[in-house]
Amino acid sequence: MASITIRDMSVSYNKKKTYVIKDLSLDIKDGEFCVFLGPSGCGKSTAMHCIAGLLHPASGEIRFDDEVMTFVGDKGKNKTFVPPQERNIAMVFQEYALYPNMSVRENMSFALKTKKIPKAEIDRRVDYMAEMLSIEPLLERRPAELSGGQRQRVALGRALVRDPQVFLLDEPLGNLDAKLREQVRYELKKIQEQLGITTIYVTHDQTEAMTMADRIVLLKDGLIMQQGSPNELYNHPADEFVASFLGTPQINIFSCDVRQENGWLVLDGGAFRIRAPQSAQASLKAYAGRKVNLGIRPSDFELVQEGADAIPVQVDSIEPLGDAYLIYVRIGRKVAVVKYAGETAPAEKELLLEPNPAKLHLFDPDTRKRIND
Ligand code: ADP
Ligand code: MG
Repeated sequence: MASITIRDMSVSYNKKKTYVIKDLSLDIKDGEFCVFLGPSGCGKSTAMHCIAGLLHPASGEIRFDDEVMTFVGDKGKNKTFVPPQERNIAMVFQEYALYPNMSVRENMSFALKTKKIPKAEIDRRVDYMAEMLSIEPLLERRPAELSGGQRQRVALGRALVRDPQVFLLDEPLGNLDAKLREQVRYELKKIQEQLGITTIYVTHDQTEAMTMADRIVLLKDGLIMQQGSPNELYNHPADEFVASFLGTPQINIFSCDVRQENGWLVLDGGAFRIRAPQSAQASLKAYAGRKVNLGIRPSDFELVQEGADAIPVQVDSIEPLGDAYLIYVRIGRKVAVVKYAGETAPAEKELLLEPNPAKLHLFDPDTRKRIND
């Protein structure tokens, strides 16, 4: 196991200095489950390939513990580069290829045999990992005799028996159906915890990131937008992009005028007006007379009969989720979505909704950065 340190890493696929990763610095702790999250094309796989040693960055440094894996100094000088096979990493991709003519046991043993590890030790490791992954009954089967989920488990097992110090997974569950994905997700996380293996997991799926990560690194256009625990990013998004990327349905964003009323700052959204919470008064001062973007998550509204900060809405449509309802509403001309956890859906066409004042997110409309603490 190892910690991973990345310093000022920039990566380009051409020599024209168009960087797909720009000055990325990151510290991943020993044993941490770190998720690279972001939209397609933001540089997740590129960053991972550099850590694996499949790609040379244009500049920067990567260390596993104190050992330098990659170093490229200014103007490409003083290079150090440990080749992938000497980094003691294991990788699993969405398109994992098992050897079709080998049994599951042979598939899982293959890399260990080439390393000349004694047979008894190979069997011990394969049996242990097969038990962890609940694939013991499948050990003598060929890949063609397995379901997609079973094959994916074999691919994970084949990587893990090598006892790598770093485990790299690039959208490994993409081929599985939703139910199976949930199950493998849970098992993968459990095994990672038991083995304590430093893991980087690439996904564009915010649910996978929220459920599995110790730390999420949210990327956009090759830059880290925010990193932290799932709760930190969800409850305290550093900007509007992070706020919108995490959470489903997406956070509602309202453009509001900031006004003074009797010495108190209020947010005027046209069709509604709410007092800014005490905790936001100081940081909002600079915005008096200007606009801010107000973010409210669908689950942060309460249905009320009356209230000074209640927002009047018209119900457009209601979707039952089983344990809750999604209520699509109009607030003036704007459409918003509310997650309502009541037993039955409200029958009225007009409702009053009160946002939880402790859960308002305020963003600068120009920089999109968070304003309130
Ligand atoms: P992600 O994994 O987040 O979807 P990638 O790391 O694959 O994103 O890609 C980041 C950017 O680099 C994208 O703009 C992509 O088009 C570009 N890119 C990826 N691989 C190559 C390549 N082999 N050659 C040129 N450009 C590439
Ligand atoms: Mg990718």
